[in-house]
Formats: sequence, structure tokens, C-alpha cells
Amino acid sequence: MKKPTITQLCYSDTALSCGIDNAVPDKNIKTNLQALIDHILFPVKQHFGGQLDITSGYRCAPLNEKLGGAQNSQHCTGQAVDFGIIDTDIYDIAVFIRDRLDFDQLIMENRTSTDKNKGWVHVSYSCDTPNRKQVLTINGTTRHDGLVKEENT
Ligand SMILES: [Zn+2]
Repeated sequence: MKKPTITQLCYSDTALSCGIDNAVPDKNIKTNLQALIDHILFPVKQHFGGQLDITSGYRCAPLNEKLGGAQNSQHCTGQAVDFGIIDTDIYDIAVFIRDRLDFDQLIMENRTSTDKNKGWVHVSYSCDTPNRKQVLTINGTTRHDGLVKEENT
């Protein structure tokens, strides 16, 4: 099974259409992205066997601003990725990460019970500080600690 690549983590439709160069500028960010691949994305891919659908990995500052990301977003340091797997409930992906992997922050975002391809998992991994293992569920403006399935959304 092939590992996801740093190129995949830098690809962005928005960057392309806005003419933003989202190439990795330095070695630290590259190291962080590789750690995300080795510690999170590849183990998830091996476990579920499906095709990863990476919506956002590394974001240079102009791209992060364009996407409305938080100013201190871990996407900007190459420590965070948003992804799902085609036809796989993001709840199952989030539970696997929570129970089996080391991570800094795990957020199940905008899951719906009716469409497995809606929503995504935001997950970060830190090489240089202890991983906090913070787990959250965010649906629009609602936010819960832990992983919460809201069946009516
Ligand atoms: Zn994210």
C-alpha cells in the first residue's frame, strides 16, 4: 500500500485558482508533514484500506487567510490535516485515531448521519511538544468535548 505524499498534503484547489504558491518553504514543515503521514494518515489508510480524501493539509499564510483558517492554525506549520475516506463514516475514523494513535488534537467536523461523504476529520500531530490528545466534535457553531454523534443533523 502506498503512503500518502507531501505533495498530496500541499495540493489545494483554492491555491491553484487564486495563484497562491503553496509549496513547502522549509525543512521543519516538511518534517511535520512527514510525521503526520507516518503517525496518522498511513496507519489510518492501512486500517480502513480505502482511498484517503485529503481536503486540506499544509497552508501557507495567504492560503490560510483565503480559507478563513484560525491565525495560529496548525495547518500553517504542517502539523494538521483535514481528510476523510470515501464512503467511510468519519466517526469510525475518529474513533480509530482516538483509541489507537498518538495525536495532538482530533476534531470531528460537520458529520451528518445521512451522508458518509460529508464532514471531515481534522487531526494534528506534534513532533516537538507533547501531544495533548484533545478530542472535540464541531457541528457548525456547536462544539462538544469528545466524539458525539448527532443523529438529527
Ligand atoms: Zn483543519
